[in-house]
Amino acid sequence: MSDLRTHIEQLVRQALQELPGLSSLEPARSEPPSGPLPAPPGAPVLRFGKRVPLVAANWKMNQLSASARAFLTALEGHDRLGVQTVICAPHVLLPVLAAARRQADLVLGAQNFYPEPAGAFTGEHSLDMLADAGAGAVIIGHSERRTLFGEADALVARKLSTAVARGFMPIFCIGENLAERQAGATFRVLRNQLVAGLSGLLPPFPEPERLVFAYEPIWAIGTGLTATAEQAQEAISFVRERLAEKFSYAYAEKVRVLYGGSANEKNAAELAAKPDIDGFLVGNASLQAATFAAIIARTAASKGRP
Ligand code: PEP
Repeated sequence: MSDLRTHIEQLVRQALQELPGLSSLEPARSEPPSGPLPAPPGAPVLRFGKRVPLVAANWKMNQLSASARAFLTALEGHDRLGVQTVICAPHVLLPVLAAARRQADLVLGAQNFYPEPAGAFTGEHSLDMLADAGAGAVIIGHSERRTLFGEADALVARKLSTAVARGFMPIFCIGENLAERQAGATFRVLRNQLVAGLSGLLPPFPEPERLVFAYEPIWAIGTGLTATAEQAQEAISFVRERLAEKFSYAYAEKVRVLYGGSANEKNAAELAAKPDIDGFLVGNASLQAATFAAIIARTAASKGRP
């Protein structure tokens, strides 16, 4: 009986090979991804060595084309002292900024995208569209998107792996709310957000210099309350340890982790003086070029740059 079965299987295999077109009825096998794509033209040029400080503006839903151009002109008049600078603007302002920009090392970033290449996703933008508009960085997992727009961990994780695969620099946000901090749950929340967010990131990993995280306690965002430098350092060194568990110590040592939450020109120096705080994600204080430039200058000074 089993001989007969083997014989029939052999005949079927032979027929499949001999009849042109039949083998194409087999289901298509998708190729495993072969690693990150080359970075889009707007992606930051990576500088290796000691972690390069980074300050990113999150304009949220603010600015129009005239004020965006004026901001850029003013910012380009300031020496950024070796601090990598990113402006995360509303999508419609990206081409405006890209056309007005004279300094190519000023990186443009987006605040959101949808992790599919194209299709029927009304109102959304793909990473290819953002790259085309001049962006090389993108914010992912911001608490306003998680809370106001219901973005859950699974979507946030898919966004992170898609952005990395497309060669973007993600600025991946995590942070606890006030009740969680008061309940002593900060580290548990950070760990859970990291484990969930990083779950889609598989080897080969991108260069560590291209991955950016932002510790943003929700109770400090837009409230005028800032984490103390000690609180921020403690949380960020915890984040770095978790990154070392996911990647390796050598890798985690090269990943930038920012602080965000009412950072301004008055508190930036003290926060940036902490060893694990590599810069800032700045909301309100990023809307005026002079204030934003002052935060960049304080960061540079605290990090001993240039
Ligand atoms: C933010 O929205 O990422 C942020 C840090 O905002 P703010 O600086 O206004 O607290």
